[in-house]
Amino acid sequence: MIIGSGIAGLRAAIEASQLTGGKLSIGMISKVHAMRSHSVCAQGGTAAVLRVDRGDSAEAHLFDTIKGSDYLADQDAAERLVSLAPAEIYRLEHWGMPWSRDGDGRISQREFGGHSFPRATFAGDRVGFYEMQTLYDTCLRYPNIQFYHEWYVTKLIVEEEEFRGATAIEIKSGTFTAFKAKAGIIATGGAGRLYAFATYSHSSTADGLAMAYRAGIPLKNMEFVQFHPTGLVPSGVLITEGARGDGGILTNKDGDRFMKKYAAQKLELAPRDVVARAIAREIQEGRGFRDESGMEYVHLDLRHLGAEKIKERLSEIREVCIKLRGIDPIEEPIPVRYVCHFTMGGIHANIDGATPVKGLWSAGESACITVNGANRLGSNSTATCLVWGSITGRAAAEYASHRDTGNFPRETVLAEEKRIYDNIFRGEGKDNPYDVKHELEKTMDEHANVFRTEQGLGEALKTIRALKQRAYQHVEDKSREFNMNFINVLELQSMLDVAEVVLAGAYARTESRGAHFRLDFPKRDDEHWLKHTLAYKTPDGTRLDYSPVMITRFQPKERTY
Ligand SMILES: Cc1cc2nc3c(=O)[nH]c(=O)nc-3n(C[C@H](O)[C@H](O)[C@H](O)COP(=O)(O)OP(=O)(O)OC[C@H]3O[C@@H](n4cnc5c(N)ncnc54)[C@H](O)[C@@H]3O)c2cc1C
Repeated sequence: MIIGSGIAGLRAAIEASQLTGGKLSIGMISKVHAMRSHSVCAQGGTAAVLRVDRGDSAEAHLFDTIKGSDYLADQDAAERLVSLAPAEIYRLEHWGMPWSRDGDGRISQREFGGHSFPRATFAGDRVGFYEMQTLYDTCLRYPNIQFYHEWYVTKLIVEEEEFRGATAIEIKSGTFTAFKAKAGIIATGGAGRLYAFATYSHSSTADGLAMAYRAGIPLKNMEFVQFHPTGLVPSGVLITEGARGDGGILTNKDGDRFMKKYAAQKLELAPRDVVARAIAREIQEGRGFRDESGMEYVHLDLRHLGAEKIKERLSEIREVCIKLRGIDPIEEPIPVRYVCHFTMGGIHANIDGATPVKGLWSAGESACITVNGANRLGSNSTATCLVWGSITGRAAAEYASHRDTGNFPRETVLAEEKRIYDNIFRGEGKDNPYDVKHELEKTMDEHANVFRTEQGLGEALKTIRALKQRAYQHVEDKSREFNMNFINVLELQSMLDVAEVVLAGAYARTESRGAHFRLDFPKRDDEHWLKHTLAYKTPDGTRLDYSPVMITRFQPKERTY
């Protein structure tokens, strides 16, 4: 069983199918149609070392990733990423991926923040869409992969610390069903919709993380939330880093190219945590512009790239700017500000993507393997989805090929059905779930953003705990079929559980590292905090524990760009 059909889930299904000669029965469950999974939004590129002949190397990609992570990446995992990513690019090509090409016919690569070489492989600025189309088309060639589009998984069934399956609701009919499985992969993506101003699809509501957490699996490093420097104001839709990779510059209201002050060498192509903080500082110090929505922003200027380059390589973001903002980046600068974009943390998994529950793996953004540490480099996520999609697909298929489904606990299924329908669907809660969601987003936007403090995080924790008490047991719409009000209420419960983990980890971590910046503790503190956070669910809330970082080749150093 694969839960989630983004890049990671689809890649896992193909690997599992190929490994078993098309014999294994693979169920692919997704709460949206597979081709509406969040991965279709990926814009700018997928990192891989393809140009060793021109000076790139696996060693350089590895070092960039580790330095970018502020030394919190497990270095053995990062090494696996860089060594396996190139083969994934060529494999996709063989399955039909229309990579952009240089004049000599070779696959093009562009610059991305924090990378020391242009190694982001791309297809215009629609890389996710084309990768998804290629993987989905390939999946359709295997009749043993069965898609369950628009099924919402509610719970993992774990018995004697072994994975046995999951319960789910078919959204179309509202029917509640239990699926038995010999092995499972959670590939449910990130948690970005905890924030209102986010680049994420509205389906990125942290369900898979919450399910794992409730099943006793710890969530790792959840305090590290990435803010991308360039969200379009006021919608938050992403303007890809590829725009800066291709030469775009950032300016403030005085016309200054302010990145000179913050990252003298890499400028706009410093990693995202550095650029996002620089924009936040410019705005705080009064050098931003103000939109009529009240939002403050800076300018991303592409005009000097010329119409031809923008039309060829950045056509999607041009279209987004024209349709959503009424400006054409060929003629005007783009209003942008930092925006929630990626979840570095996730389900605790080892270098093979295996979770502590036997027979259960996690891949893609839902997994914390831990390649990204405290800050992910752009274009490394889709590469990670492909690499660990393949690794976990293989491991789960091998495991499932030698197992029975095992004892399936009927009483757990009945208890879940009761929880869903008696407690939630027919619940008597008084609060409107959309008001609760709005308060959750506002709290996270205000207190768990680019800059954080003990006071703000403490207040936010209190608010989220109070919201958990009043939340979710209220579904206004009582129909069974396509009841999105019901599904939204279930999603809200996931988001509140996971928000508490983000805040608890951020409150406890009294240092600044990567994307987690504490104004009251502005320095990195390796002596006390060079460690991963593990968050466990207990009846009294989140319990934190810590585990060591795997350092193999690069000792932590000061990080300058
Ligand atoms: C706008 C944007 C642009 C980006 N551009 C890039 C880029 O250029 N390069 C790069 O490397 N990264 C990029 N990223 C990051 C990258 O897109 C994601 O990290 C990656 O696509 C995540 O893929 P995934 O397979 O892990 O999950 P997703 O694509 O997020 O898919 C999650 C799946 O889980 C399913 N699901 C979730 N909950 C449930 C449930 N309860 N029941 C059933 N199914 C469920 C969903 O239906 C979906 O199928 C970008 C991110 C954003 C927001």
